[in-house]
Amino acid sequence: AAGLDTIAACGDVNRNVLAGANPYRSPLHAAAGELAKGISEHLLPKTNAYQEIWLDAPAVDPASEVEPIYGPLYLPRKFKITVAVPPDNDVDVYAHDLSYIAVADGDRLVGWNVLVGGHARLKYTIDDRGVDWFKAELESRLGFALAPARPFGFDHNTDAFGWQAGPDGQSHYTLFVENGRIADRGARRLRTGLREIAAVHDGLFALTNNQNVIIAGVSAAQRSRIGALIAEYGLEREASLLRRNAMACVAFPTCALAMAESERYLPDLITRLDEVVGACGLADTPITMRMTGCPNGCARPYIAEIGLVGKAPGKYNLYLGAGFHGQRLGKLYRENIGEDAIVEALTPLLQRYAAERESGEHFGDFLVGVVVAVRAGREFHD
Ligand code: SF4
Repeated sequence: AAGLDTIAACGDVNRNVLAGANPYRSPLHAAAGELAKGISEHLLPKTNAYQEIWLDAPAVDPASEVEPIYGPLYLPRKFKITVAVPPDNDVDVYAHDLSYIAVADGDRLVGWNVLVGGHARLKYTIDDRGVDWFKAELESRLGFALAPARPFGFDHNTDAFGWQAGPDGQSHYTLFVENGRIADRGARRLRTGLREIAAVHDGLFALTNNQNVIIAGVSAAQRSRIGALIAEYGLEREASLLRRNAMACVAFPTCALAMAESERYLPDLITRLDEVVGACGLADTPITMRMTGCPNGCARPYIAEIGLVGKAPGKYNLYLGAGFHGQRLGKLYRENIGEDAIVEALTPLLQRYAAERESGEHFGDFLVGVVVAVRAGREFHD
């Protein structure tokens, strides 16, 4: 009834296209959202199978169906596309096959930088042939030359929480949702509170790429009412910076591929690590941390400064040295270790980081040297 579907959620096709979650934030964010939507619709499989299977639509002879993009064989593998507006890398452009980065002149969009490669598919072509070959091949098919890339800069891949003012007088509230789980727990009645807000909110709810929720497009007249509901249901949770910058995949009991706990366990590990971080005087220093229940890496742990990848019940591979805004992969530091060993491995490194870091230096950058920096995909497994 809401028009949601799962078409192209799996299979060898282009998957859902990600853009910054809140299109109301600025004209550039609106343009990024429009581009993502346009690409998504352009690349959506045209097959009628979804309607046949789920919506009882009449069967169509497959021989009469035409897939203008994919043809009869689809792609060799899935494909992922993102659209970002600097300085936010909240879509993790470096983890996807193809990304567009807005180039702006003030508030005016003047074009897009295009990134190709990412982590799991097109990167092999780029590794093998190089960017220059790819660009020449693309230009020969386009029939025109691409302009040189413009300079760009990202400074984080996380979300900014609380109220933000939009350029048009509307406000947007980003709500911290630990690992994306909306549930009533104790005094924090997230599920009930969001339902109550939905009953009065006439803007948008946007799910961020970091598993949080934006109550977007709140008019000046509605802001105090929404704010009162946020307070009434205890939605504004005190959480450490480490917790706010952390993410886990669902793993057990939802995912059949899980080898270790993730969503249900990461909060407890963070409680323990918060003590270490606090004792080191790093409570105000953002550090990204992500955990998954298996190597498939759905929470993108390989580009978190602290990456934990489940191998067996209670056991994780620990990756360190990734870039703070996702610009560099981490490197395997410890294999198949449990909670005590994770804390024991991280404690001296956090202590050293607190004592020796340069001003503004991020944890992942500091650890280059402790682990080898992964500057190209092929170096990940060296
Ligand atoms: Fe499942 Fe593995 Fe993905 Fe986690 S990373 S959701 S366990 S497939």
